[in-house]
Amino acid sequence: MDLKSKIREIPDFPKEGIGFKDITTLLQEGPAFKEAIDKMAEFCKDRQVDVVVGPEARGFLIGAPLAYSLGAGFVPVRKSGKLPGEVVEATYELEYGNDTLQIHKDAIKPGQKVLVADDLLATGGTVKSTVDLVTELGGEIIGVAFLIELTFLDGRKKLEGHEIFSLLEY
Ligand code: IMP
Repeated sequence: MDLKSKIREIPDFPKEGIGFKDITTLLQEGPAFKEAIDKMAEFCKDRQVDVVVGPEARGFLIGAPLAYSLGAGFVPVRKSGKLPGEVVEATYELEYGNDTLQIHKDAIKPGQKVLVADDLLATGGTVKSTVDLVTELGGEIIGVAFLIELTFLDGRKKLEGHEIFSLLEY
């Protein structure tokens, strides 16, 4: 299936000059959603994955079905103040200001094999912070998987040393 044809591009969202890749049009079609997750799971088929970690909010939409498909656990990384238990946090720079992501301290056991998953790799800030949180808890990153990679933003640079899989490139 041509999965790229299922992704809608919205011009000038969230601000002028940005062509936003809208994955909701892919998610709403059962066969397209299934094929996308199946192909991402294929990337991991020869590795043991204990836990998939996905950042809020679209990382949940990709990471949770991926974890289910792999028979792995799922751990959410959330914006500051959302998780009820004890957390560790990482702050990263946005174009204007900062954002903080948090993970439950007891969500990853040292030595667990972790796949980080998100919908889209842009500048890499979101997933770099997620990788840092997992590493701080002693998890071993076995790979980082995206539905979409915007290659022209070179987010891969921030993830050097990790194996990266992206299903669709722009
Ligand atoms: P990064 O931190 O710059 O790599 O941005 C990636 C994060 O921003 C991901 O969690 C995405 O959900 C979101 N994002 C950035 N651009 C887009 C887009 O065009 N479509 C959907 N999500 C996007």
